[in-house]
Formats: sequence, C-alpha cells, structure tokens
Amino acid sequence: MRTAIFPGSFDPFTAGHLDVLDSALKLFDKVIVAVGYNSNKAAGFFPVDIRMKIIRDSIKQYGKRVDVCCYKELTIELCHRLGVNFIVRGLRTTTDFEFEGVIAQANRVLDPDVVTVYVQASHEYSFISSTVVRDLLIHNGDATPFMPQGVDIKKYIKARKELKK
Ligand code: ADP
Repeated sequence: MRTAIFPGSFDPFTAGHLDVLDSALKLFDKVIVAVGYNSNKAAGFFPVDIRMKIIRDSIKQYGKRVDVCCYKELTIELCHRLGVNFIVRGLRTTTDFEFEGVIAQANRVLDPDVVTVYVQASHEYSFISSTVVRDLLIHNGDATPFMPQGVDIKKYIKARKELKK
C-alpha cells in the first residue's frame, strides 16, 4: 500500500488544501494529513486540536483512506516515525515553487529515500490561502466559500473565542 503524508500548518485547512489532498489520493492509497506546529508561526490562529477537527470535518468522504495527525518534530522524522516515504506538498505560484524547492532539497539531504511529490492547485483554488481565510475571519468576513464543504467555520470561531476568555 502506498502511503504519503501531507504536512502543513493548516491554520485553517482550506478548499485549496482539500483539492491537493483529492489529487494526492489519485496517486496514493492512503494520505495522512499532518498538522505541524511550526516554531516560526508561534501558537497560530486556531489551536492544533481545532485545526484537526476542521480537517476531520473536511475528509469524511474519503473514509479510511485519509488520516489526520499532528507533529512537533521535523517532517522527515515524522516520515520515519510513521514509516512513510512520500511527502505531498501543494504548489500555487512560482513563490511556492521556490520555497518548496528549498524544503524538499533539505529533506532529500536528510533522507534520500523520502521523495517529495508536488500537486498543482486547480486554477479555481490556486488563490486560496490560510492567510486570506484568517484575515477574513479576523474581520468577521464570510470565509465559507474558501472552506471545504461540511466545515461550519462559525462554530470553530466561537470555540476559539471561548478558549480566549
Ligand atoms: P505550511 O505552513 O507548511 O506552508 P500550509 O498549511 O500553508 O503549510 O500549506 C500546506 C501545503 O499546501 C503547502 O505545500 C502549500 O503550498 C499548499 N497549499 C496551500 N494552499 C494551497 C492552494 N490553494 N492550492 C494548492 N496548494 C496549496
């Protein structure tokens, strides 16, 4: 069985991420969406458990072919822990390409057996980013068009506010 991880901050998971995941499932039998706590991004907007809930709401249609986990270690170490040899990342623009290239090269040096596979965004999703979604949410805008179907983002905004009290 071919398994890949799809690592990212997913703060939050968007319709663009779902599009990448959907394409990855055409290549792999199973994909594990791995929410990383990135040290540069500090605590983030949503706590990790809410990020994972949003992902779970987004992937129900895939059943056992998709799993969710979170991790603190290096992505390559996560691959070793899970026994996975493929990393999926999404590409939107040339900026993504340059940024992703640096990460993939570093991972390749760390372990040449782990291969990074890029999935290009469909053009209708290529402009979507977690940053835009967060900006909308901060200013009480409606982020629903950018979210996967089945995610009640208002519910999670409420939960986030409760936590901050
Ligand atoms: P990170 O903080 O690790 O960049 P993100 O959660 O922002 O994590 O993104 C995870 C992956 O999904 C990255 O490879 C990113 O380029 C990709 N991605 C994000 N949004 C889109 C989109 N709309 N279309 C395609 N790929 C995307």
